[in-house]
Amino acid sequence: MATVALRRISKSYSGRQVLASLDLDLTSGELVCLLGPSGCGKTTLLRIIAGFIRPDSGTVVVAGKDVTALPPAARQMGMVFQSYSLFPNMTALDNVRFGPRVAGVGKEQQVSRARELLALVGLTEHGEKFPHQLSGGQQQRVALARALAVQPQMLLLDEPLSALDAQVRAQLREEIRRIQRATGITTVLVTHDQEEALSMSDRVAVMNEGRLLQVATPAAIYREPADPFVARFIGAGAVLPGTIEKGAVRVAHVAMLARAASDHAEGCAVDLYIRPEHVRLESMNGHIPPGSVAAEVNETTFFGSLTRVKLTLQDMPDGHGLWADLPSEQADRFKPGSRVLASWDEAAPRVMPRN
Ligand code: ADP
Ligand code: MG
Repeated sequence: MATVALRRISKSYSGRQVLASLDLDLTSGELVCLLGPSGCGKTTLLRIIAGFIRPDSGTVVVAGKDVTALPPAARQMGMVFQSYSLFPNMTALDNVRFGPRVAGVGKEQQVSRARELLALVGLTEHGEKFPHQLSGGQQQRVALARALAVQPQMLLLDEPLSALDAQVRAQLREEIRRIQRATGITTVLVTHDQEEALSMSDRVAVMNEGRLLQVATPAAIYREPADPFVARFIGAGAVLPGTIEKGAVRVAHVAMLARAASDHAEGCAVDLYIRPEHVRLESMNGHIPPGSVAAEVNETTFFGSLTRVKLTLQDMPDGHGLWADLPSEQADRFKPGSRVLASWDEAAPRVMPRN
């Protein structure tokens, strides 16, 4: 399977830069998610890899070969789009064998390959059905089988699950990942859904405004965001504005338990990022021990196994907030209006210069 190297890819429309000198490498058999808000350039980048769009500058190298000037048909890539793009007048089986048929594969082989792929996507019984007789999730399975039928070097998926309801989406996430692992095919999946990106990828490439901000494993993206945008975009949590005073982080003159990096200058403005699962709560009984901050429970939201407690920090202006995710049975005693102490481990918050 193919390695991919994107080098200094740029693209503008009417003088407006959509992709800004972007570099990305994929190893063979890897699944990388392009994750970013709507309009950040994900689809444009995917279509440049596929060959539907020519970059203004930069190169696309697949399996060691520069394909930048090649048309899509010469690149051997399988694509799946958000909207069901099946041929409506063909059965599922005929949709899947369409690619091999056009490529001149013999009829028996077309059919046997299509049947194998329908089995792979769990649709053995549905080969004779037309798209309108299949659910949205089943249609996307057919689209995946059709993309794989041409034995592509790469699989390119543009928000393939966005149009599906939550339950089917969760199921198909696992299915796509299983099939991608089974076939070992190098895959780029575009999504704006962070849960999808974190749960499916070998690595996540976080994009904003035509730039790649961080490319790393899901755990590294979540735990060690390298950039304020990544820290805010991925996962939930509080962002508290602070300053570095005598090597410690203060928010409105309250010393916060956090590790300031040695390269943070005295007086430097920083943001403190605190994930809800790191925040511990206990009832307030008068004094505030060092390392804890006083807060009031604002509201609680029940999510089944866990409850998210929204807090307003005391002794701070304009109601700085903090969130704590607690196992629901522990959260029951923290009713709105109760006064609490919030604390966390020193290593838990991430401190980044404010920009
Ligand atoms: P995403 O897939 O991340 O939502 P796109 O790659 O579709 O983003 O679009 C990135 C930006 O480029 C958007 O601002 C979009 O409006 C613009 N854009 C995309 N295609 C064209 C085009 N053919 N002509 C002009 N602007 C375009
Ligand atoms: Mg898009």
